[in-house]
Amino acid sequence: MTQRSSRKIIHIDMDAFYASVEQRDDPSLRGQPVVVGGTPEGRGVVAAASYEARAFGIRSALPMRTALRLCPHVIRVATDFDRYREVSRGIHEIFHEHTDLVEPVSLDEAYLDVTWNKQEIPFGHRVARVIKRDIRQRLQLTASAGVAPSKFVAKIASDLEKPDGLVTIMPHQIRSFLDPLPVAKIPGVGKVTGERLQAIGIDTIAQLAAASVSDLERQFGRRGQYLHLRAQGIDNEPVAPISEPKQLSSETTFATDIFDEDQMRYAVQDLAQDVAGRLRRRSLRGRVVTLKARYPDFETVTRSLTGGLYLDSAPPVFDIALELLRRTDARRRGVRLLGVAVSGFADDDRAAQLDLFDMEQKG
Ligand SMILES: [Mg+2]
Repeated sequence: MTQRSSRKIIHIDMDAFYASVEQRDDPSLRGQPVVVGGTPEGRGVVAAASYEARAFGIRSALPMRTALRLCPHVIRVATDFDRYREVSRGIHEIFHEHTDLVEPVSLDEAYLDVTWNKQEIPFGHRVARVIKRDIRQRLQLTASAGVAPSKFVAKIASDLEKPDGLVTIMPHQIRSFLDPLPVAKIPGVGKVTGERLQAIGIDTIAQLAAASVSDLERQFGRRGQYLHLRAQGIDNEPVAPISEPKQLSSETTFATDIFDEDQMRYAVQDLAQDVAGRLRRRSLRGRVVTLKARYPDFETVTRSLTGGLYLDSAPPVFDIALELLRRTDARRRGVRLLGVAVSGFADDDRAAQLDLFDMEQKG
């Protein structure tokens, strides 16, 4: 089906979300380099860095030890996911004043389809401005937004003027907007694909758009067509709101590909803890543990195991997830994303949690 009239998609991404929430709630942290994450002794990694910390080169997914080396006076704060989830619910309330077509990507990031919107605001960028204003006024936080006819262009746009950015790309501007950008801006183009494209002389999206589909298909198989379409600015992926949760999951994308096995293990441990904590808060127990791994070339695999027992605590979820990790090629190929999910809820738990909105539940 072709999309004739253009859609109005907003991609909203909170600025340095966890760190901003911490700075908002503790005035002594404002204006300071702040990192959120585990202890350096426990081999913690940076989950979020304030803009003041970023000035020292600190980024998400860096080992906490490295962050301390880059900025010895950086202030470390432990993560408080309950509070971030609470703030996230407030953000989603604002979204839903405009549309119910909201697709959460993570606690601090979502796509909204506002082609038709509840307040009948005619322009996407005006909706985005109202949302940004309300987030600032009601939650004292800033968000960056990208507005475009497709999800992928909106996502690229939201990143351009961070923090507190608002970038709108009209349909006729898509090509001139995309053309000069490096191919790595296309979601799914990681280091490996980027290097392979470079090897055949393709650095920019314009060059990718000019390449022949058959050449790309020869090089990249089915993904060749995807790459070619995106380079033309074509993306008809709908904004897909989540429905009833069938699983609880948590995943983390690393800023740089991870090859270190210990680092993978610590990440899986964090994820297992997060999922287990939420299971218990919802009085849910699940029997199926799933591990998701995305390799540097963006191939994504999942491995699942159904246990005999219903689980709601971190250690067994961690053990199973770790076993599943060993059944992937993660150690050999490295990973850019890891996720842990628990599903197969006990029947009597299931009814109780049907109306619970789990904004992190994502396939
Ligand atoms: Mg963000």
